[in-house]
Amino acid sequence: MKNIIERFKRYAKVDTQSNPDSDSTPSTKKQFDLAKILYKELLEMGVKKLELTDECFIYAEIPANYESENIPKIGFVAHMDTSPDRSGENVNPQVIENYQGGDIELINNSQQTIKYNENKELKNCIGHTIITTDGTTLLGSDDKSGVTAIMELAKTLTSNPSFKHCTVGIAFTPDEEIGRGADKFNIDKFACDYAYTIDGEMPGELNRETFSADHAWIKVHGREIHPGSAKDIMINSQRILSEIIYNLPSDISPETTDGHQPYIHPHYIKGTVGLSETMLLFRAFDDKTLAKMKDITLEIINTAREKYPKAKIEFEVKKIYRNMLDELSKNPKGCDKLFQAAEKAGVNPVWKPIRGGTDGSKLTEMGLPCPNIFTGGQNFHSEQEWLSVTSLQKAIITIEHLVQEWAE
Ligand SMILES: [Zn+2]
Repeated sequence: MKNIIERFKRYAKVDTQSNPDSDSTPSTKKQFDLAKILYKELLEMGVKKLELTDECFIYAEIPANYESENIPKIGFVAHMDTSPDRSGENVNPQVIENYQGGDIELINNSQQTIKYNENKELKNCIGHTIITTDGTTLLGSDDKSGVTAIMELAKTLTSNPSFKHCTVGIAFTPDEEIGRGADKFNIDKFACDYAYTIDGEMPGELNRETFSADHAWIKVHGREIHPGSAKDIMINSQRILSEIIYNLPSDISPETTDGHQPYIHPHYIKGTVGLSETMLLFRAFDDKTLAKMKDITLEIINTAREKYPKAKIEFEVKKIYRNMLDELSKNPKGCDKLFQAAEKAGVNPVWKPIRGGTDGSKLTEMGLPCPNIFTGGQNFHSEQEWLSVTSLQKAIITIEHLVQEWAE
């Protein structure tokens, strides 16, 4: 436990925030600060097949320690970056041993108390060791707890020759939080038969089903003129865009849905009289519903086009990622083994749909089946992010069982 805490804190303190406004890979140079630490630590463990690429990906391999004609290579993937939503500078992790229930005050920000009644998972964490922020930054448990789990696995495998395991691939990626991490992932170099991201939430929660995601851009072109002489001339694109957003169905929004329900979500609005735009997130678990969301939005836009014929309204939809369930159902072996490994680790595994995507959604689409494993973290991308180290330890035990399962 002490080693896990020390390792996690060491990684959490490194600022690795990614930046959606940067076109380079990695989007921020500082992600190399953590990559170099991980590279050095793997090297010190004696991992020989090891590479840190110019684009800030780490690929490593720990060979199997048994003889067989057919040794599977199983990969583990975690992302090094943290969310651009909250600062990742000067992260100051606070360790609470033997948590006994109740609200958790954060030492440097009285506005950010982790409330017991708002965090339903806390009741399952009595007696756990919990790590929080000091209230001024995010914690970066997403996904440094995943990184920690994989590094602990590497440590176990390299220091216990008698621990029988399949060949293990390790990949640490940049820029997951800005949706670009997997785009540049080299699955040929990684060369795994099956892989797992460790980027989930509470213990026992396993994910083989994610949202399918499209992004839709709406651009409204109006006409600028001095408001004093605007009568019958001005076309205020902001009013038109507001009307379009107002007409989107409010019962399929993130605020009003959960479980398998889909949503349409205006992610941002920018505007002047002359030009206003928004990006909508379309999220659903199947392609049919996703297509329906496009139709609903287009109908609203067409109504606006009729009402404001002098405005120009552009509408463009782009595919982002797809639910990995279809592909994983064709090749369920790795999901079955994961479930068994989690049972052996003493957690009660459940398959839970993720209302988001993972690096695994894209990797699965690229041909590398890749379900997701819990970490024990909660409240990602916020000052109230917390991690149950006791649960993270269960994740580590799960993947230790998993590499043994694959060796059988
Ligand atoms: Zn994550």
